Amino acid sequence: MNEGSKGTTKEYQGLAASPGIAIGPAFLYLPQEKPAQRPAPAPADCAVELARVDGAIGAARVQLGKIYAQAVEEMGEEGAAIFLAHQEFLDDPVLLDEVKSQIEEQHLPAEAAVERAFEGHAQQLEALEDQYYQERALDLRDVSRRVCRILAGVQDQQALADLAWPVVIVAHDLTPSDTAQMNKAMVLGFCTATGGLTSHTAIIARILGIPAVVGIGEAVLGILPGTSLIVDGGSGRVRAAVDDATMGDYVHQRDARREQQTAQKARAHQPGITKDGHHVEVVANIADAASARAALDFGAEGVGLFRTEYLFLNRQSVPTEEEQYGDYCAVADVLGDRPLIIRTLDIGGDKQLPYLDIGHEMNPFLGWRAIRMCLDSPQIFEPQLRAILRASAGRNVQIMFPMIATLAEVRRAREALRRVQQQLAAEGLHFDSDTPVGIMVEVPSAALMADLIAPEVDFFSIGTNDLIQYTMACDRVNEKVAYLYDPLHPAVLRLIRQVIEAAHGAGKWVGMCGEMASDLEVLPLLLGLGLDEFSMNAPAIPAAKDLLASLTLAQAQRIAQEALLKSTAMEIRAYLRSLSLIQP
Ligand code: PEP
Ligand code: MG
Repeated sequence: MNEGSKGTTKEYQGLAASPGIAIGPAFLYLPQEKPAQRPAPAPADCAVELARVDGAIGAARVQLGKIYAQAVEEMGEEGAAIFLAHQEFLDDPVLLDEVKSQIEEQHLPAEAAVERAFEGHAQQLEALEDQYYQERALDLRDVSRRVCRILAGVQDQQALADLAWPVVIVAHDLTPSDTAQMNKAMVLGFCTATGGLTSHTAIIARILGIPAVVGIGEAVLGILPGTSLIVDGGSGRVRAAVDDATMGDYVHQRDARREQQTAQKARAHQPGITKDGHHVEVVANIADAASARAALDFGAEGVGLFRTEYLFLNRQSVPTEEEQYGDYCAVADVLGDRPLIIRTLDIGGDKQLPYLDIGHEMNPFLGWRAIRMCLDSPQIFEPQLRAILRASAGRNVQIMFPMIATLAEVRRAREALRRVQQQLAAEGLHFDSDTPVGIMVEVPSAALMADLIAPEVDFFSIGTNDLIQYTMACDRVNEKVAYLYDPLHPAVLRLIRQVIEAAHGAGKWVGMCGEMASDLEVLPLLLGLGLDEFSMNAPAIPAAKDLLASLTLAQAQRIAQEALLKSTAMEIRAYLRSLSLIQP
């Protein structure tokens, strides 16, 4: 968003995406390909370029060897074989001679020589009009890009997996597959040039409890690797190369916060209860069995959102029913008799799967996403429903459908569920026939129709990450419109109030699993509006329970009433801050 400097210190301001202070060396992660911008070398530089090519090809062999070994573990030898074929290209004498002659005879720099030689061969393969050879042409280009990335000093995902010491990741943005491969134990903080408060990077940072600043702007990519950085995820400020006194201040703040968190965590195993004994469920958003275990450690009373799409990432194909069944059982077994709400696949928007061709869309967030895609794709939807239902046998499992916009979609989804229940019964497979079924309310039409939908579901969970973007017509990952993306906008609060009233009117409970549920500033207001369940990233649970314990329900109701009388988000925020309910 902006950049400034004082002496040698540089400061960058972005969006405060995940609280806490991280201090450590910058690790620049720039996986996108950069065009070779170096001028063609003089003839005398040929030896240098040849040596660069040799080095890069050697490094690519090492990378592919590691990728092959990992792929064998994950997919078996057959699925991994493609990476052996990639390695073989690097040993092809004809191809390597061609690269060499491009350097020696055409005086091209290493990147251009590799690109031209590989592209020439790829085109020859393509011309053979046999599908097998056409696919090899794609592989050849993939290997060429890998070598060029190494030549340009650009990191790939393997670099994230190989992190060997604690660093602050500086990147343009991070995709779900970047973060899935990352050695998270070595990540102190994130700084990204793009992204909004509910972009994948921001959400994952909060899940992991890693301080993060997003939407800083391209200037942050100018930070040199290894520069000592301070990431203040609470204020959205990143500082580079500060003086000793400033560094001392930040170290003190970081350590004080850690102490406070340790104390809160020790109290977090009490149920979420207000000062006057009103119980609300404080549960977690998770992505797999490991995050479910971490959630219990932070005091989660169950899981309010299991984002199943993470099981579909970093693979070559849709997980089978058996694989999904294994994953759902594993998570439910971690939780014991605590509730587990499994959300059906929410893919599309900013989450794409390489093996599922959703097609090009002008507006992916308004497109063929989540339940829309699932209802049209029974070959994906039904195995997931079967797996969830089978996991429900003897376990506290509930189903939740994402992105519901109409009652007709609820009915179609329930119909698909009934079909699957009949199949399972006919096959003699066990499931809980009373598995509760709820929907996410994240499209304004569903919020406005909540009174009509409530009788046909068992619960609502308000997905504010999307509800805000659709209500305010602002892309949730676009930092340029972040000023509109405000959970406290009266339009958003009115919709939330309406959903809670509609659910309660029909005798149903209502939770919230968007990021807003963990915002301490808003928590008293949501409690006062009558929210029954708060589902959040696990590290946020201890502080939320602490705050709940300091409030009475009547006090929260007064706060909600007063806040909803105000006309702007700014006035509401100022009012909530004036109450000084949160410990600094
Ligand atoms: C939401 O939209 O609030 C939500 C929880 O879903 P996601 O962030 O996965 O879209
Ligand atoms: Mg959503």
